[in-house]
Amino acid sequence: MNILVINCGSSSIKSEIIHSLTGNRELVMRVERIQKNPVIKFGDGETITPEVTGHEALLDLALPKLLEKQGAGGIAAVGHRVVHGGTEFDEAADISTEVEEKIAALSTLAPLHNPANLSGIRLAKKHLPNVPHVAVFDTAFHSTLPRRAKTYALPKELREKYAMQRYGFHGTSHDYVSRKAAEYLNKSVEELRIITCHLGNGCSIAAVEYGRSVETSMGMTPLEGLVMGTRSGDIDPGLLIHLMKNDDLSPEGLDQLLNKESGLKGLSGQGNDMRDIIEKAAQGDDDCRLAIQVFAHRVRKYIGAYAAVMGGVDAIVFTGGIGENSQMIRHRISQRLDFLGAILNEDKNHFRLDDEHPVGEFSWNHSRVKLLAVRTDEQLSIARQTAALVNKKKVNQIPPIPVAISARHMHITQATLEQLFGEGYQLTERKPLSQPGQFAANETVTIVGPKNQIERVRILGPVRPKNQIEISRTDEFFLGIDAPIRESGKVENSPGCIVIGPKGKIQLTDGVICAWRHIHMTPDDAEIFGVKDRDIVDVKIGTGDRALTFGNVLIRVSPKYKLEMHIDTDEGNAAEISRGATGALVLSDGEAHLTKKKLKR
Ligand code: ADP
Repeated sequence: MNILVINCGSSSIKSEIIHSLTGNRELVMRVERIQKNPVIKFGDGETITPEVTGHEALLDLALPKLLEKQGAGGIAAVGHRVVHGGTEFDEAADISTEVEEKIAALSTLAPLHNPANLSGIRLAKKHLPNVPHVAVFDTAFHSTLPRRAKTYALPKELREKYAMQRYGFHGTSHDYVSRKAAEYLNKSVEELRIITCHLGNGCSIAAVEYGRSVETSMGMTPLEGLVMGTRSGDIDPGLLIHLMKNDDLSPEGLDQLLNKESGLKGLSGQGNDMRDIIEKAAQGDDDCRLAIQVFAHRVRKYIGAYAAVMGGVDAIVFTGGIGENSQMIRHRISQRLDFLGAILNEDKNHFRLDDEHPVGEFSWNHSRVKLLAVRTDEQLSIARQTAALVNKKKVNQIPPIPVAISARHMHITQATLEQLFGEGYQLTERKPLSQPGQFAANETVTIVGPKNQIERVRILGPVRPKNQIEISRTDEFFLGIDAPIRESGKVENSPGCIVIGPKGKIQLTDGVICAWRHIHMTPDDAEIFGVKDRDIVDVKIGTGDRALTFGNVLIRVSPKYKLEMHIDTDEGNAAEISRGATGALVLSDGEAHLTKKKLKR
C-alpha cells in the first residue's frame, strides 16, 4: 500500500509517498528553512518559494499540492514520525484524539520536536481525514531498556516528578539497520548481539541484544552521548555548574551552547559538516584533526562499553551520513578492535552504498565480529510500521475463509447425460451446494481408467457446456490417469476416460483434471482481502502446531460466489480438516502474500 510519510522536524519537513512492500518512492517533498525564506521542493522538480513561514502554514500549502500530484485516493495511510513517546508508547500508535493529547503532553520532554510533529499530524488529518494516521516514535525501540540502563542516579522524587530517565532516540534507524544487518548475515536478529552506530548530524549508538535495545547513548533528551554536528554529547555535569557560576549562563544560554555551538562545530571552528572537517584536517588544520579524534574516540569508547554490556558482540554496524559514507571515520573507529574479535579489512572498506547495495562489509572473512555499513531508511521503516498497524486492524476485520472439501465429482453436458441416463433425462437435485445455484445431483456414474474404476462418482448440477471430471491425486494413481492441475472449465489437452451410466457408456476424449485449489469470493470480499481475480495466494488452515499453509491457491472473484475455499480430499486429509474448518490468507507486511503475478488468461 502507498503510505504518505511525514517527518515534520524542527527546521525542515520531509515527506514521501512510499510503497510499503517494494519501498518504491512515488513522490518526494521537502520543505526547508521553515522559519525564514522557506522553500518547498517536489521530487518532480517543481520548487515553490512561499510567502508564509512556520510548520502549519507551510504544510497547509504544500500538502494539497502533494495530494494533487499523487491523487489523494492513492494514499492508504499516513505515517508520522514523532520524536518523543515517553513511557506511554512502546510501539507505533493509531492517532486518536487521546494519542494526540498524549503527544502534546510529552512536549515538555521534547519542546522543539513534539509540537512540530503535532502540527504535521493536525494538518495531515485536515487534508486526509478519511485515512488512518499512525505515529511512529523515535523512542519506542528503546522502551526495552532495562531499569539499570535507563535510570539516572538522581533522587527518586526528582526522577519521578520530571519523568527523568533514559529514553533514547533514533530508534527507527537502530531497529531498521539491525534487522537489515541480520538479513545480510542470513541470521535472525533474535540470535545476534549488534552494536549500531547512527552517525549523522545527530549521533547515537545502541546495543541491540537479540533484537531488543538494551543500551543507547542518547538519554532523556537527544543531547547525551556521542559527539554530534552541533551537540556536545557527554560532558561532566560539574562543568555546567562551573559555567553557570562563572560565566553567568542562563538556561537558554546553556541550551544554545550545548545544542547549537558544540560538537563538531565547536571543536573544529569550521561548522558541523564532517566532509569539510575531513578536508580541512587533511590540509593540516589541527582543530579539525582534534574534532575527528574526539569524535572517533567517543564512538570507540561506547563500542567497548556496549560489548561489555552484552557480554560480547556479533556485528558492529555503521549508518547515518557519516557512518554510511566515510570510510576514514569507520576505519578510525574500527581499527584495533581485534581484541573484541572485529578484524578490520582496509581493502574492503571502500564501497559506496546505494539502493542496489545497501550493505557493505569491511571485516575479514575470519573476523568473528562482522563490521558492516548499512544504509538506513527511516522513512521506509515508518511506512512499513504504518502499513503493519493498518493491516493488523484490517486483519481483525477479515472474515475467516470457510474451507470445503470437494469430493471427486463430474460436471456433465445435457448430451452426455442423455447418453448415460436415457433420452430426455434431467438431473434431479439431492442437495444444494454452497455456491448459489449449484447442487449435488442424485445421479452418479462410474469412471474407468486404464488401471481401475471408481463407482458412485457424483454428478454436480446444473448441466454445463463441457464435461469435466475432478479427481484427487490419489484417485489419479488408482485410475492410472495423469490428470493435470487445472482451474475449473480449463479442460483442453487433458486426458479422457470411460464413463458408465445406467443406460449407456461413453469414452470421453478429455475432461479429467485435478482441481486447482481455489477460493471463491465476491468483489467485496476481494477488496477486504486485498486481492484480485486470478491472484495466487498462500492460505493457512488451522491454528497452532496443526496449522498447515497451502501455497498456490487461486483466487476466483464473481458477484455470484460465496466466500469459500475448495480443496480436494487428499489435501483435506493432509491438513486433518474437519467440518467447519477455516483458513486465513498469509499476510506479509500485513498484505496478502501473492506468490506469483496475476496469471495471463
Ligand atoms: P541527519 O542526521 O540530519 O539525517 P545525515 O545522516 O544525512 O544527517 O548525516 C549528515 C552528516 O553526514 C554530515 O555531517 C555530513 O557531513 C556527513 N557526511 C555525508 N557524506 C559524507 C562523506 N562522504 N564523508 C564524511 N561525512 C559525510
